[in-house]
Amino acid sequence: MNRPELLDRLRSHSGPWDLLIIGGGATGMGCAVDAASRGYQVALIEQDDFGKGTSSRSTKLAHGGVRYLEQGNISLVMEALKERGIMRENAPHLVGDLAFVVPNYAWWEAPFYGVGLRLYDVLAGKYGFGASRNLSKEETLERLPALKPEDLRGGVVYYDGQFDDARLLIHLAGTAVEQGAAIVNYCPAVSLLRNDSGMVVGAIARDGESGEEFEIRARAIINATGCFSDGVRRMADANAAPMVAPSQGVHLVFDGSFLRGDTAIMVPHTSDGRVMFAIPWHGHALVGTTDTAIDAVTLEPAPFDQEIEFILSTAGQYLAKPPARADILSAWAGIRPLVKSASGASTASLSRDHSIHIDPSGLLTIAGGKWTTYRHMAEDCVGQAAILAGLEERDCVTRHLRIHGYHHHASKFGHLEVHGADAIAIQEMIRSHPERGRQLHAALPYVEAEVIWAARWEMARTVEDVLSRRTRALLLNARAAATMAPRVAEILAGELGRGGSWQRDQVERFTQLASAYLPR
Ligand SMILES: Cc1cc2nc3c(=O)[nH]c(=O)nc-3n(C[C@H](O)[C@H](O)[C@H](O)COP(=O)(O)OP(=O)(O)OC[C@H]3O[C@@H](n4cnc5c(N)ncnc54)[C@H](O)[C@@H]3O)c2cc1C
Repeated sequence: MNRPELLDRLRSHSGPWDLLIIGGGATGMGCAVDAASRGYQVALIEQDDFGKGTSSRSTKLAHGGVRYLEQGNISLVMEALKERGIMRENAPHLVGDLAFVVPNYAWWEAPFYGVGLRLYDVLAGKYGFGASRNLSKEETLERLPALKPEDLRGGVVYYDGQFDDARLLIHLAGTAVEQGAAIVNYCPAVSLLRNDSGMVVGAIARDGESGEEFEIRARAIINATGCFSDGVRRMADANAAPMVAPSQGVHLVFDGSFLRGDTAIMVPHTSDGRVMFAIPWHGHALVGTTDTAIDAVTLEPAPFDQEIEFILSTAGQYLAKPPARADILSAWAGIRPLVKSASGASTASLSRDHSIHIDPSGLLTIAGGKWTTYRHMAEDCVGQAAILAGLEERDCVTRHLRIHGYHHHASKFGHLEVHGADAIAIQEMIRSHPERGRQLHAALPYVEAEVIWAARWEMARTVEDVLSRRTRALLLNARAAATMAPRVAEILAGELGRGGSWQRDQVERFTQLASAYLPR
C-alpha cells in the first residue's frame, strides 16, 4: 500500500472505472474488496484516513446482537451470527472468541437469559462460538472477580466475537489493493460529475496533500460515507430527503484492573433500556456504550458529559472497584449511520439492517448495518451496483477470501498479533535494527518498528493515523499517546520526507486531539 503510487493510478487511469466508491470505512472498503475480487476495476477515495469515521470507534464486537434477538429481529441476528463466523474464518489473526457473562441479581434472570442465550446458540448453528450455560454465584465470581458480590445470584455465560476494528479495516485495505483496487486516503470527493441527462458519472476528488483536484469517472458510484451519506447525496440533488438518523455512542477506557481477567460483562438492561458492555481489550477495560440522537455529524464527535456520567454510574453498579472520572484513560465517541424510520422512533430502536438506496441521479448509497455484516452488505451492494452499471455479472468470492495478514497462530507474536503474518517482517526489522524494537511508552506495548511499518506499508500519513488507527494508543490511553507523539512525528518525518515544521505541527495537532479524549 503506497499512497503516491495508488494516487498516480487513480489519476492516470484511462477511461471510466467500473465502480467508484466514496468512503473508506468498513462499508466502502468491504465493497472495494468484494468488487475488486470479482474482477471489476475499482477506485475508492476516503476524505481523511481509512477508518477515521465510525469504523474505528465501535465496541469491537463481531456479534449477532443479543439485543436484536429481544427486539425479535431474528433474520438480522442469524445473518450477523453467520457473518461473525465468516469473519473469524477469513481473519483469524484479528477476530477472536470472547466469553461474556450476564450477571443475575433477580430470581427470574437466570431462566430468562439462559433460555434467550440458548436460542442465540441455536441460531448460530454451525457458526457457533461456544455453548452458553448458567453459572452459580461462585462460578460467576471466579470468571469475573471484579464483579460486586452483593446480591449476586449467579450468571449466564455465552460466547461472541471480538476484533480490532481499525486494524481489520487496514487489513481489508491491503486485501483490496492485492485484488487490484486503487484506494487513496486524504482524498475527498468534493463534487459529483453529471452527464447531460443528469446522471452521475464520476466525482471531482481533491488530493488532500497537494490540494490538486482531478476527475474520476466511473460506470457506477457507490456512496459509502456512513453518517455523511446525506451530504454526498446532496452533491447530486440539493433537495435529497435525508435518509440517515445519526446517533452517537460513547466508550470509556480504564486500566485492566477494573475488569481483571479475560471475560466480559454484558448488562442487558441499563436504566435507559440499553445494553452495556465492559470488555477486556488490549489489556484495558472498555466500557460502553450510549445511544444519543444528534443533529450534526463531524469526524471527531465529542462525548457529552451526561454520557460519561451515565457510563460511570452504570459501571459503578456492577464493579467492585467503581471507576471514577479521574480513572478514565480515554473517552471517545462514534456515530451510528442508522437509516431513518418514517415513524420517528428513537435511535435505539431503529433497525441495524443495512439499506441500499438509488437516487434518481443513479447515485447508489449504502448505509446502516453493522461492522459484523460488512461482507454481506458489500455482496449485496456490489451486486446491485454491477446491474446499475451494466457490468458483466460476476459471482461474489469473499465468502472464502482470506484477509491480508491471515494467520492462524498470530498470538505467538505477542502484541504484534494484530499484524497477522506481517508480524514476521516487523520482527525481522527489529532483528536487523534492534533500536527499532524500542517501546514508545512504558504503559503501552507499541514499538518504533510499527511506526515505520505503518508509514511504509499501511499508508499512515500523520501522527494521528499511527497513534489512533495503526496502533490503538489514543483509544487506550490518551495521555500516553500524547507523550509518544514527538518520537512518532520524528520517525514519520524521516519516512515521508517531511521537515521540522511539519513535525512540530503534527505534534501540536495530536496533543490537542488527545486532550479532547481526556474529559475533565
Ligand atoms: C458506538 C458504536 C459502537 C458500535 N459497535 C459495533 C460493534 O461492536 N459491532 C458491530 O458490528 N458494529 C458496531 N457498530 C456499527 C459499526 O461501527 C458501523 O456500522 C460501521 O463502522 C459503519 O461503517 P461505514 O463505513 O458505513 O461508516 P464510516 O466508518 O463512518 O465510514 C464512512 C467514511 O466516509 C468518509 N467520507 C465522508 N464523506 C466523504 C467524502 N466526501 N469523500 C470521501 N470520503 C468521505 C468518512 O471520512 C468515513 O471514513 C458500532 C457503531 C457505533 C457508533
